[in-house]
Formats: sequence, structure tokens, C-alpha cells
Amino acid sequence: MTLSRRDRTREQWLETLASHRRNFDAPASEDFWSPSLDTASRDELASIQNSKLAALTPFLYENSGFYRRRFDRLGLTPDDIRTLDDLPKWPVINKTEMMEDAIQHPPYGTYTTMSEALWKERGWMQFSSSGSTGVPRVFRYSHLDREYWEWANARALYSMGIRRGGTVFPMGGFGPHVWLWGVLYALARMGIAVIPGGGMDAGARAMIIERFKPSIIACTPSYALYLGQVMKDMGSDPGKSSVNTLFTAGEPALAIEKTRERLEDLWGCRLVEFYGCTEASPHCGGYTCPDSTLPDKPASIHLMEDIQIWELVDDREFLPVTAGTSGLTVCTSLNSESSPQLRFLVGDYTQFDRSACGCGRTHVRAIGACSGRADDVINIRGIKLLPSHIEQAVRAVAGTGDEFEIVLSTQASGLDVMTVRVEHPEQANCEKISSAVAQEVRSQCEIRIEVEVLAPDTLAKTEFKANRVRDERNR
Ligand SMILES: [Zn+2]
Repeated sequence: MTLSRRDRTREQWLETLASHRRNFDAPASEDFWSPSLDTASRDELASIQNSKLAALTPFLYENSGFYRRRFDRLGLTPDDIRTLDDLPKWPVINKTEMMEDAIQHPPYGTYTTMSEALWKERGWMQFSSSGSTGVPRVFRYSHLDREYWEWANARALYSMGIRRGGTVFPMGGFGPHVWLWGVLYALARMGIAVIPGGGMDAGARAMIIERFKPSIIACTPSYALYLGQVMKDMGSDPGKSSVNTLFTAGEPALAIEKTRERLEDLWGCRLVEFYGCTEASPHCGGYTCPDSTLPDKPASIHLMEDIQIWELVDDREFLPVTAGTSGLTVCTSLNSESSPQLRFLVGDYTQFDRSACGCGRTHVRAIGACSGRADDVINIRGIKLLPSHIEQAVRAVAGTGDEFEIVLSTQASGLDVMTVRVEHPEQANCEKISSAVAQEVRSQCEIRIEVEVLAPDTLAKTEFKANRVRDERNR
């Protein structure tokens, strides 16, 4: 039986993915899960990326309505994009474009290569974006994706020093969010024990840490700060607990020096980090290595280049930046049968270094890790800054609480102002604390702000991801 173009391109894509995988089920060395890939030369990595790209574009054209229409609209054919050098011909895809596709083609959109027949045959799990700014964008993955995801995440977790013998306690609501699901399945592939920590409050989680002594906890940085305080309130010291590794994702931690310091001090242990997004799964994206947090060096994370292509673009026209310049992350995902994406704008600010890392890995590093997404940029009186910049300043003042809030408002005169609301136990010294925070913000962000000093426990506690910005400006 002759295969249709749709099936033939899928078969070629899957054969190409299979031909480049190594050590799928178990690590091959003490330091690297897949040594030949993790330490491949830059030429070898480029050759793998080119081989995958050449199979990817025909596959997308034949199996995704969104991609076919985009190729046709741009006057391009899959043959026009076969190598890394061809990538700039393809303008980056942003979330809005995907969302419009999801609105026009409910409920799944056509930006993935998952079909109804495939979902029935080997569908695994459905994930989605939060949908907080429109309709949720849905991503359905197959069991084959799950296997590739487990492998990629196992390589990343291995790089983070996570090994058999430990017990991991992942905390989150699970739900349709990719991060902890990907971690959970990877840990199973690695043969590492897990205590599932969904669906319970901080008190119950603190009790589990006390009683069952996990060695690794996985949660957002905001939640790790909150949980540590809950443990203290219950009379136990998180710094003296069984936890020897704090594994965070979902919000920047490594990129904000003062947040990282607070977390490491509170828990008395090392911090490791995943970075990624729903759209470029299945895979975490970025991950730390033994050299990521060396003293006197900026923090960094690796991005796995045999399964993804990472670029940086400017934040105005989204064109590639010159080497060594800061820009927004763009990901081409080469590790999925259901949702490979071509130049998706993930949109985090960072800088790349493609020189070899001291850990031996050759894959690109995001220097300074990732400090926040372009979507979250605050523009006030023409000055642009990220909430993470304010976070760094607030945490630099001794004694400030872990929660804080950024309120943007318009004065009667029409002037827009930013007020940062912080908590501090020394209520008699409000003026001193307020000017210390304002000074920190001024020196880091070159902007004058108002500061309100509140009594401890005034602001709402963060249970998962922090939502710190309240915009009440006149529009
Ligand atoms: Zn490294």
C-alpha cells in the first residue's frame, strides 16, 4: 500500500528522530546521560539540527493546517527551509498567532501535528496554556512524545545531579501544566522514587517533609519561600530538614541573585532550575549543570541543542541579534511527533554563550539564566523593566518579607506612578525601610518609585506562581 504524503512525511520525521537518539533507557556514564550528544562538537550538533530540520518542514506542511497556510502565505515551500542558515526566512511565530488559530479552529487549533486518528491510536495527555489572556491553547501529546520527553528530561535531571537513591517530592496542582508531569515521568524512567505532592496545603506538605524526609523538593521559587516560612511557623527549621536540593521552575530564581540567596539560606541547600514553556515541550528547555552556580560567575543554564534550536531575536522586529547581545528566546522544537514548532517566540530575555562549559557539555548556555518574559515587561513613563528587577531590589533590603506587590496607578495630575508594597517587621522604621527600597530600585532600574511598608502577613501568600503586578492606570 502506498502511503499518503501526510503519512510518508510523518514516517520520515519519526525515522529521523529515532536515528539521532542515544542511551534512550539508561545513562551511559557517571557524568552524562548521553555523552556522545551532551558533549558533541558544535559541528556535530549543527549537523543533527540540519538533518532534523530537513525532515521537519515537509512533515509540518503535510500535517498541520496552520503551518501549511503559513508556508503558502509566505510564498515558501518546505524545501526553502532545510538548514540553520534558512531559518531567518521564516518569521517567528508568537502566541497571538497561535491563539487566533485556536479561535478559528476550536477547540484544538491546527498548529500541532496531532490528528484525531493519532489521538485515538496513541494519544497520551492533553496540556494547555493558562488561557489567562484569551482562549487556552491546547497541546495534545502521544505516548511516543512521552518517551522522548522522559529521555530529554532524564538527561537534564542527570545534569542537575539528580540520581537514584534520592526521593523527590514534587509540589504543584499538576492539572494541565507541563512541568511536573514531565518531571514525574522522567523520574520514573530514571528509577528515582517520588512522593506525589499535589492537592494538599502547605501544612500537610511540611508534615510530609518532617515525617518522610524527601531529599529533593520541586516547586516554584515563590512557593519554596512560603513553605519554608510555614515550616518555621510550625517550629521546624527547613535548613535542618532532609532536603538537600531545591528544584524550581515556573518563575525565575537563578536569574535573581537575591532570591536565590534567600532560597539557599532558608533551605540550607543548593538550588537547581528548569526553564521552559508549554509550546516547546515535550522537554524542559533549560537546565542547570555543575558549573551553573559557581561563585564569581554569572548563573547559567544549558539548552539542549540536539533536540531544539535556540536563537535570540530583538524585541522590536524579532530579527536575530548579533552574537553576545541580549535578546528574546526563540525555540524550534525537534523532539516531538505531535507538537514540533518552527521558530516559536518563547520570549525570555537572556544572552547566549556557545563556548564549551566547564562541566563538559557543549550545548549553548543562557548566561544569567532567564529573568522574565517580554509579555511581563512593565512600561512606566517610557522606562521598561521586568518584575524580576523589582524583586532583586526588594530582596536586597534586609528583613523585607517574601511577598511584595507592584501597583501601577495614575495620579490626579495624569502622571503614572509605581508603588512597591513590601512587608517588614520593623514598623517603627518605615521611613528608613521605604527609602532603602526606593534607593535599591533607583540604582538598579533608574526609576523613582513610591514604597509602602506593610506589617508582616498583610499581603496574600503565593500558593503556586506569584502574581505581583496590579495595573490600575487610566487607559
Ligand atoms: Zn555546564
